[in-house]
Amino acid sequence: MAEGRQWGEEPFYGLDESFDPQWFLNDRQKALQKQLIEVCHDVIRPQARIVDQTGEYPWESVKALAELNLLGCVVPEEWGGSGENHVGLAMIGETMTRYGCSSTGVIFMMHMAGLAALLFRAGGNDEIKGLLRRLDSDVMIGSASFTDAETGGHFWYPKISSVEKVSGGWHVKKKASFTTSCGEARWVVAQTTSPDFDGDYSNISDFLIYDHEITSHPGQWDVMGMRATVSGPVEIDAVLPDDRMVGKPGDGARSNDEAVNAMAMVLYGALYNGVALAALDLARGFTTRRCHGNTGQSVADYPTTHDTFGKAVIDTQGSRLYLYALAQQLDRVTDNGDWKIYERDPDAAPRSPYILWGLKAKEMAARAASEVSDNMFHLYGGAGYSRKLEIERILRDSRAGWIMGPTNEVTRGIIGRWALHGYLAVDWWNQRVNENVLNGEIGKLDSDGKRALIDRLNKELGDE
Ligand SMILES: Cc1cc2nc3c(=O)[nH]c(=O)nc-3n(C[C@H](O)[C@H](O)[C@H](O)COP(=O)(O)OP(=O)(O)OC[C@H]3O[C@@H](n4cnc5c(N)ncnc54)[C@H](O)[C@@H]3O)c2cc1C
Repeated sequence: MAEGRQWGEEPFYGLDESFDPQWFLNDRQKALQKQLIEVCHDVIRPQARIVDQTGEYPWESVKALAELNLLGCVVPEEWGGSGENHVGLAMIGETMTRYGCSSTGVIFMMHMAGLAALLFRAGGNDEIKGLLRRLDSDVMIGSASFTDAETGGHFWYPKISSVEKVSGGWHVKKKASFTTSCGEARWVVAQTTSPDFDGDYSNISDFLIYDHEITSHPGQWDVMGMRATVSGPVEIDAVLPDDRMVGKPGDGARSNDEAVNAMAMVLYGALYNGVALAALDLARGFTTRRCHGNTGQSVADYPTTHDTFGKAVIDTQGSRLYLYALAQQLDRVTDNGDWKIYERDPDAAPRSPYILWGLKAKEMAARAASEVSDNMFHLYGGAGYSRKLEIERILRDSRAGWIMGPTNEVTRGIIGRWALHGYLAVDWWNQRVNENVLNGEIGKLDSDGKRALIDRLNKELGDE
């Protein structure tokens, strides 16, 4: 549409629909988008202002998502959900942060990241299937507890963790430095090293853990933005029944490649594109209203504003189209986002070849959100500092995209190494020796240094 989006009783103040790539959406998704915008207007956006100030968890918004059946939206219909595909998920994430609340968007994303691991191995696991049926009816918000303090944004690399086989189940220990919905999530998926771990960090496993089995530290989340996500640290030291291992021992890396990354990267892209759009919408509303007595013009009339705004729109649209194109391709290769494919064939891996594309989508959207909100903030002048006008909240929230794992620096490093030297050079778990660096450093040693090195290595080999 070119005109006509409503914001409550008023015409919407932001970019009109001629800037929306609605051609990616089917009629059901367009209807859902309209419903979600209304819920954002009535509940989620007003809550965003309140919870940003109080730092409280946005339960009203989470309940509103459950009422729209969004907590289980990607769960297959036969398993109790509405079978939404990747394009639909991207639309939901983008709409949530654009019209509603960035923190609620991250809460939704981390729920979906954990859920992806469960959906990947739900086949044959009644515990998981039982939970899937309760997601919306019982507001079973979940999360993903991956990030380890020692490896940070390399969230696939758990160090402070262990699992031991005990009678009737698993003794799981883990410390996670961040977990969104800390102290509020009803369940999390946590990733640890595997029971037979022998130093190979690619040998990782996933567990479904309920709230009473987790020690949470929500009070440590005292932050500048994404305040209502309550992404504090957690500790797990629990004996879990056998069926709480998600998949088989050592299934974690496959789960990351095929399930968790795909969902997380689609949502990273969607959420932060939505944050950039929220900044553009607000700035359009503000700059067209703010007039200067000396020139008789609004801020929106200045050619410099056209340039700034035009570039921001182009950058955001580039990131959006990239993400929707990726989501559409993921739909093509997964029978329209059908998670039952893994029940039929546990070795199926149609999403895995697209990891690279997902990482790029994350980096682009996080960068767009950061740069666009920064430039839109400038267009406000001093008024931008006012909490009432909301751009300062969007600016603060936007910063999280860049620093969330994999951080944009780490993401670029992965893509650069992959592009220059091939996939193996990515070396996700730090296992490949860089012979050139090694030889270069040894070459710097004098004879004494070389002898000391030989002695040290001989001693290490002797100790082994
Ligand atoms: C709002 C929010 C919600 C979150 N929610 C969750 C959650 O629910 N679950 C979860 O598991 N995690 C979560 N996280 C953690 C997040 O995903 C990242 O893992 C975390 O933000 C980055 O870890 P760190 O702070 O230890 O940074 P570090 O990884 O220590 O990074 C510090 C700096 O070093 C740089 N750096 C690191 N390694 C390299 C390298 N090899 N080359 C170049 N530069 C490098 C980084 O880019 C960064 O600039 C959340 C974080 C935030 C901010």
